[in-house]
Amino acid sequence: MRIDLHTHSNASDGTDTPAELVAAAAAAGLDVVAITDHDTTAGWDEARAAAPPGLRVLPGAELSTVSPDGRGGSATVHLLAYAFDPKAPAVVREQARLRAERRTRLRIMFDRMVADGLPITEAEVFGGPDSDASLGRPHLARALVRAGVVGSVREAFERYLHTGGPYYLRRHDTPVRRAIAMIADAGGVTVLAHPLAHRGGELITTEVIVELTGAGLTGIEVDHADQDEPTRGRLRSLAADLGLVVTGGSDYHGTNKRIPIGANTTSPASLEALLGAAGRRPDGTFAGPDRANVPSAQERSG
Ligand code: AMP
Ligand code: FE
Ligand code: FE
Ligand code: ZN
Repeated sequence: MRIDLHTHSNASDGTDTPAELVAAAAAAGLDVVAITDHDTTAGWDEARAAAPPGLRVLPGAELSTVSPDGRGGSATVHLLAYAFDPKAPAVVREQARLRAERRTRLRIMFDRMVADGLPITEAEVFGGPDSDASLGRPHLARALVRAGVVGSVREAFERYLHTGGPYYLRRHDTPVRRAIAMIADAGGVTVLAHPLAHRGGELITTEVIVELTGAGLTGIEVDHADQDEPTRGRLRSLAADLGLVVTGGSDYHGTNKRIPIGANTTSPASLEALLGAAGRRPDGTFAGPDRANVPSAQERSG
């Protein structure tokens, strides 16, 4: 069984449509693929409808959250959320707020870039085929590539878009504990995404991970391209100490990143433990209005 629990479609900042994403997953020999777009569930239906026989699509999302960093400051933390009710009012409201925030923030960054003479157009960034998408910096990066200003998305980040860079702007992300509780209330589970990926530079301490586990976190993403083997080893032993489920995923973004789908995977036992924590059907779908057998966040964290 090959299971990739972290991928993006053009419902957020990937370049594949959800249908292309599941086709790529099948072509890579995956048995299970989770679609985890940033702050949206808009790709779920298309992905599920397009899944070929033998490929299971696990519905998910990657939530933008803000956490204490454990050193008196704060850090951006990504939470992978799976198998939650996408219609839960709190989820709908918060994801809509974040997507609006993403759009406003990208608009300000776009205006500043244009004011500085960068030859990108509004239509490219806001009016393309994925204009309803959950927008992020990769949408600006691609416009810079198309304009010939940079040779790659990676170069766009290095020169213009990196955190703390000349055009970088913060967002008002969801407080991480609130996000964990919101997903638990919607019947789902949360996994701390790439906790020690050094790229952003702002990392949370182990003490914070312990606290988030107490707040209901179910798993931690260990096998991720931005975490090297020694880092993964540290995270694996932390997961064992805290009873967190170990996951892995490619963080596939189509041509916006170089990582192929299926490059990192999750064990079947981990997937079972994850879904078990949510009291889900085996295919990961929402079990319905009767939540009597879904443990509360508190029971789960014990
Ligand atoms: P945002 O959510 O708008 O702050 O943008 C963050 C997104 O940019 C991440 O989800 C990645 O997909 C992408 N990203 C961040 N750093 C890089 C990089 N160096 N190269 C390519 N993509 C990146
Ligand atoms: Fe992304
Ligand atoms: Fe992420
Ligand atoms: Zn991701």
